[in-house]
Amino acid sequence: MIQGFHRPESVEEAVAIRREKGNSACFLAGGFFINSPKNKETYVDAVSLEKVGLSEIGIGKDDVIIGACATLQRIVDNRDLPPVIRQAAGFQPARHFRTQITIGGDIASRREDSFTAAALMAMNATAQTAESGDMSVSDYVLGDCDDLLLSITVPRDNHRCCGLFRQTRSARGPLLLNAAVGLSRDGDAAPVVVVSGAGMGLTRLTAVETMLPHADVETIERTAAEAAPFGTHWLGSVEFLKHLCGVAVADCAIACL
Ligand SMILES: Cc1cc2nc3c(=O)[nH]c(=O)nc-3n(C[C@H](O)[C@H](O)[C@H](O)COP(=O)(O)OP(=O)(O)OC[C@H]3O[C@@H](n4cnc5c(N)ncnc54)[C@H](O)[C@@H]3O)c2cc1C
Repeated sequence: MIQGFHRPESVEEAVAIRREKGNSACFLAGGFFINSPKNKETYVDAVSLEKVGLSEIGIGKDDVIIGACATLQRIVDNRDLPPVIRQAAGFQPARHFRTQITIGGDIASRREDSFTAAALMAMNATAQTAESGDMSVSDYVLGDCDDLLLSITVPRDNHRCCGLFRQTRSARGPLLLNAAVGLSRDGDAAPVVVVSGAGMGLTRLTAVETMLPHADVETIERTAAEAAPFGTHWLGSVEFLKHLCGVAVADCAIACL
């Protein structure tokens, strides 16, 4: 149970409090996950990011910078942001959820339904952290770094294209599959293929990444199905989930080519 609630007014203060309190303290952004019954962590201290001021969005010629505390709704509403990021943020269908969930919280919670995190990985976005400097969103999500996220830099779509897929069991039902495929238009950054869902956390399918962008659709579909490490799940058989994954990844790749 959270017993101490801290309201730092700067990044330095927030980091210092978390360092002093150790692993029993968490950063609190929108609180959507921390306050949800699905959160099984037992934090003693919460370090609120409300007054730290990380919610600005900056639009540049080649990339955009999104403050870690920008909410999904602000991302959906900002027409200057790459459409793929706005689309991923809009996958959360409830507006009142979108006004609470932040992009930093979405990345740091590493959930299988973190659609924005998957899209950012596919877009080869870079995370700016308070203590470890810059790292790819992919490295942050797939590693164990728990540094304070300050902002996310995303290349504009004229440099990178991305296809997204999401399927839930019903409109507001549990997630079957979340997939994102990103390719560089100028060929200077490697393809990224990310999938998650039905009990599988965000996972990169490197077997598919190595064959893009030149493989044919059937080969992409077969390789993605074989590579996706689904386990038995009440939402569907392993065969069904692998089939869905193969088709989805192939569709996302076609959207990029
Ligand atoms: C029922 C439910 C449904 C969901 N549906 C969707 C969905 O449809 N689409 C989707 O994309 N996501 C969904 N999520 C996931 C949701 O986006 C994440 O839970 C997200 O973390 C919430 O953001 P928040 O800002 O409220 O984070 P918080 O709850 O405040 O924090 C979540 C975690 O991130 C850490 N954190 C927050 N900000 C930072 C930061 N700047 N730097 C480092 N660590 C930080 C916190 O310490 C904590 O560990 C769902 C979650 C739940 C519980």
